[in-house]
Amino acid sequence: MSAERPGANHVPSPLMRESLVDKAVIASTEAPVRAILPHVSVLKIGGRSIMDRGRSALLPLLDEIVENQARHTQILGVGAGVRSRHILSVGLDLGLPTGVLATLSAKDAAQNAYMVSCLLARHGFVYLEAPFLVQLLPAMLAAARGAVFNGVPPYDLWEHPPDAGKIPPHRTDAGSYLVAEVFGARRMIFLKDVDGLYTADPATDPHAQRIPRIAAAELVERNLPTLPIDRVVPELIQRARLATEVQIINGLVPGNLTRALEGEHVGTIISR
Ligand code: ATP
Ligand code: MG
Repeated sequence: MSAERPGANHVPSPLMRESLVDKAVIASTEAPVRAILPHVSVLKIGGRSIMDRGRSALLPLLDEIVENQARHTQILGVGAGVRSRHILSVGLDLGLPTGVLATLSAKDAAQNAYMVSCLLARHGFVYLEAPFLVQLLPAMLAAARGAVFNGVPPYDLWEHPPDAGKIPPHRTDAGSYLVAEVFGARRMIFLKDVDGLYTADPATDPHAQRIPRIAAAELVERNLPTLPIDRVVPELIQRARLATEVQIINGLVPGNLTRALEGEHVGTIISR
């Protein structure tokens, strides 16, 4: 067959003859990133810290989310909680690989997200599976409603092997954070049962001190033995283009969420 139509117009593009693993080529792609949903705030509702405590913890928080609905567009990532600890333990005992463990624990977070979406349904919140987060979210938000999603990022079998051990490194804090980063969200707020990040787990160490603000690089450098968020989150914040700041707040304290949504410093701020 004839190769070219006369007058065919080839559009030159900068990467057309390049190797995408060439370091110089990669560096040349650094460019400003456009925030595609900059008015949205992403919240992550802790699985173990909020969901597993049941109605006394969750319902007042959902009321506060609804109270803020008129002023703030909120989309809610939800954590997996104790059921995922159980399935991870069983899977580890059976020798299953990290990608399978990630697939399993996503099902627990989906259950929690589905429950939250049912409780908020009459306020116009919908449950969106990952593929629909892009396609349907703008339509939902155009109607001034919110959405609930499974915090586990859909790596499934492709979950990255961790440095140590076998627990999937990208869990619901990372998945929620990555949604904030890709949309260029206004805020990323982690709702937990502690007043922020401490020098040690305050549940077990009475001498733990709260850290009101810290740079992500310093947090990684400190290499604390435990954290209230997925260990990969401060690493991701260091590479952030848009979501350069996150806040960890106590979602069991009424008013905290409202203050954080208004831009007040509540709990701990981790920034790039
Ligand atoms: P899920 O992972 O199921 O979504 P979650 O993230 O809400 O649950 P955890 O993973 O248990 O809950 O994380 C919150 C807990 O982290 C707090 O209850 C706190 O006791 C603990 N924690 C551990 N280390 C720290 C730390 N350095 N600072 C503050 N809290 C910490
Ligand atoms: Mg957690």
